[in-house]
Amino acid sequence: MNSIINMVNYMNCKITHFPEPVLLKAAQPIETIDESIGQLAERMKEIMVEQKGIGLAGPQAGVNLQIFVISLDGTKENAKVYINPKIDPSGPMNTMEEGCLSLPGIYGKIPRYSRCTVHALDLDGKPFSDTGEGLYARAMQHEYDHLQGVMIKDRMGEAAKLRARRILKRLQEDYQKKQSSQGSK
Ligand SMILES: [Zn+2]
Repeated sequence: MNSIINMVNYMNCKITHFPEPVLLKAAQPIETIDESIGQLAERMKEIMVEQKGIGLAGPQAGVNLQIFVISLDGTKENAKVYINPKIDPSGPMNTMEEGCLSLPGIYGKIPRYSRCTVHALDLDGKPFSDTGEGLYARAMQHEYDHLQGVMIKDRMGEAAKLRARRILKRLQEDYQKKQSSQGSK
């Protein structure tokens, strides 16, 4: 079913910051890969490039759907789209500092598997698999986490959590301010 009424306009999607509720819950599988999903993927690539990231997940664009994009060099041309992804991480753990576009100012050393295989659908609905190591494997695990409502603040060590506390509080205050200003319109 693809009536005009059901078509969602993703062109105005914006980056979301903690604690927007969409970032804190599991995303839903995409049932129909139609034109609007193509639009969403385009918009997600734009947001990723604007924000100087190397990956972006649906919830980070305010959309509760299982989709992410990754571009290891941060360019739109090299951005790949993963729909309804499942990951299969393997190999030894590797700890590296990570940031997140939805947690501006927060960095922490995060342990991740050094290798990862992803099984996903492309924008034509065709299944594909891809295996990566190092930064690519890390990016897959980071973006996949977003689809489960998990963020780096949940995976950081205690010291980094403590350091992040003040920034998390400020993000919470920013969110509350935004909510109350929207409510008064
Ligand atoms: Zn992130």
